[in-house]
Amino acid sequence: MQDHTNRNDAQWERDGSQHGIPARRFATRSTEQRSDPEHRLLHGLLQSLDFPLYVIDANTYEIILANAAMCRNGPPWGFTCHSLTHHRDTPCDGAEGACPLEAVRRTKRPVSVEHRHYGADGTVRYFEIHALPILDPEGRLTEMIEYNVDVTEHRRAMDELRTHERALERLTHQLELSNEELATFASVAAHDVQSPLQTISAAAAALELILGKQTDARVQHALEILLGGVARLSETITSLYRCSQAGTGALQLVDVDLARVVRELCTFQLARAIEASGARVHVAEPLHDVRGDEMQILELLQNLISNALKFRRDTVAPEIFIRTRELARGWIRIEVEDNGIGIPEADHQRIFDMFTRLDPGDAASGLGIGLAFCQRVTQRHGGRIGVQSTGGSGSTFWVELPPAQRDGTPG
Ligand code: ADP
Repeated sequence: MQDHTNRNDAQWERDGSQHGIPARRFATRSTEQRSDPEHRLLHGLLQSLDFPLYVIDANTYEIILANAAMCRNGPPWGFTCHSLTHHRDTPCDGAEGACPLEAVRRTKRPVSVEHRHYGADGTVRYFEIHALPILDPEGRLTEMIEYNVDVTEHRRAMDELRTHERALERLTHQLELSNEELATFASVAAHDVQSPLQTISAAAAALELILGKQTDARVQHALEILLGGVARLSETITSLYRCSQAGTGALQLVDVDLARVVRELCTFQLARAIEASGARVHVAEPLHDVRGDEMQILELLQNLISNALKFRRDTVAPEIFIRTRELARGWIRIEVEDNGIGIPEADHQRIFDMFTRLDPGDAASGLGIGLAFCQRVTQRHGGRIGVQSTGGSGSTFWVELPPAQRDGTPG
């Protein structure tokens, strides 16, 4: 095995002739002396390439011409390609990559292979080897041009990416399992807790009836607290159940006519709250249609509009603006803007966490589940949700969802 490092010019010139390589083939040196412009241009071109480019004698495997990048670790003249980069005495047998010369000899066509190369200090690097044949007039392979691209960093990055992808797959799988477990638990809990709650509620109502009008005011008050607590617990369980269901189960994807959904909400589900608050809802029609589970999207908008009605300023009637716009990648951004109490910037993330209420003592705030539900629905659709607000001067909640496909599926 030859070591090509620490060799001076005299040595490599001597070794070159020892190997019987004609002097004219040391082109990197001999062309320097040539003055015709075409040669100087070609020479400059080869020398300026920052990756190794060289010519190998097809019979001896010796490197007979090389550019500056190939000479970086010392002159390669007289070395065979396998001794130089693989520290081998015989041509590559495939263990560290297929021999490009054999492939080019066989096919007489350009080939590309990936090789593991060893530096003089034994460090391993990976190269993409591109090899091109030089044929004589009879079509016999005489030399082979080779150039190498160092893909070590790229390969490391790809390996790292694959490791992260595998970790992500494992996490997603675990998350799916825990979502399913949560959904099963919530479903069992919803069923098992709801029925004793109904019993308690019925018993309290019966007690109220039996005690009649002469009931002590303190007993009346206690009964009210009991019934209020039961109702709230029942509502919490139902909301939790709905929230857990939003994270699992198949989505019923259709093209959703958002304008119709908003009209339905304002006319039916939210009509009473709109009237009671004296709110005005402005819809910037036409709204873009989206692709999604219509029931979930309806509940998502119901939560956002209902919050816009709830978190109003005492002295100002709610003014709500609903609009959509198409994003650059074709997705649809829905915005629900209000003129309510606003949300401090520090709370913009955490309001989407389960059970987070910025002012738990406020009669307006509910269970702290609504926005967590909205986030789950949005994520299930592959979208994003967020809020813009400086606090004290209204909020704009935004949701990004896929566009309608207009495939004839009724919206
Ligand atoms: P809930 O409305 O039941 O309290 P949500 O999860 O819907 O629960 O909202 C969480 C909290 O975020 C609310 O309690 C409130 O503090 C804040 N919030 C939500 N929407 C608005 C809004 N439009 N304006 C101001 N604060 C809001």
